Amino acid sequence: MSGIASWWQNGRGRRSEAADGTKPIGILGAPMRIAVLSDIHSNLAALDAVRADLPEIDELWVLGDIVGYGPQPNEVIAALQEMGARSVLGNHDGAAIGTVDPHDFNPDAAAAIRWTASVLDDNARAYLATLPEVRTEGDLTGVHGSPRDPIWEYITSTSIAMANLEAFETRLCLFGHTHLPIVFASQDGQGTALAAIPDEPISLGAARLLLNPGSVGQPRDGNPASSYLLLDTDAQTAIFRRVAYDVGVTQRLMRDVDLPLRLVERLSWGR
Ligand code: ZN
Repeated sequence: MSGIASWWQNGRGRRSEAADGTKPIGILGAPMRIAVLSDIHSNLAALDAVRADLPEIDELWVLGDIVGYGPQPNEVIAALQEMGARSVLGNHDGAAIGTVDPHDFNPDAAAAIRWTASVLDDNARAYLATLPEVRTEGDLTGVHGSPRDPIWEYITSTSIAMANLEAFETRLCLFGHTHLPIVFASQDGQGTALAAIPDEPISLGAARLLLNPGSVGQPRDGNPASSYLLLDTDAQTAIFRRVAYDVGVTQRLMRDVDLPLRLVERLSWGR
C-alpha cells in the first residue's frame, strides 16, 4: 500500500483503536475525515473524477464558485446536494443569481455568467440562494475569497494571508478563489507559504493555517488535473490530491452551448 491509501488507512487504524470510549480529541472535538473542494465551475466531468478518487469521508466542504465558466451548473449542484456538501457562496455563484454585482468580471466570465443565469433550474437557483458567505464549524472557517472579504479578496501572498489572520477565530481557514493550491502558515507571528505537493502529508501542527485546495473545474497552476484537499483531524494532517479527468468531454459540452472559446481552451493548459 502506498500514497493516499496508506496515509488514509494509517489514520483509520488509529481511529478504530480509540473508538472504544477513548476517542482522541481531533481539532473538531472528534476525529474527522474532511474533503475540501473549490471552484468546480460547472465542470461535472472534473467533479465526477474527484468523486471517484475520494476515500471514505465524514464531511465535504465546498468553497464556492460552484458555477460559472463551465457547461453543467444544474448537474454539479445536484451532485453536491447528493453528497451533502457544506458549501459557501463564491463571486460567480452570486453573480449567476443576481445577488453579487459582477463588476470585476472580464467579458468571457461575464458571458459565461449570462449563459449560466439563463439555464439555472429552480433547484439550483434555490440552492445557491441559501449559501452563506462564511461557514464556521468547530475549528474550521470556510470562505471563497478571504475571511475579511469573503466574496472578492484574493489571498495571493503571505502578507495578505497574515493580514487575514485577525479576521477569523478558528485555527484553520479554508479558502479558494485563486484556483491555486497552497498553504499559508503562521507561527509565533511569522508567516510562511508551504507548497502543495500532491500526496505529501502536511502536518496541521500547532500553527494557524490558511489552506486553499486549488480548483476542481478550472485549475490555473499549469496542471489541467483537478486539485482538491483532504484533512484528517485525527492524524492532524492535510494532503493534496490531483486527479486527471477527460477535459475533452467538458470542452465539447462548452462548444455545444457556445461558451467563449478562450474558456474552452484554457482547460487544456490548466491556465
Ligand atoms: Zn473561481
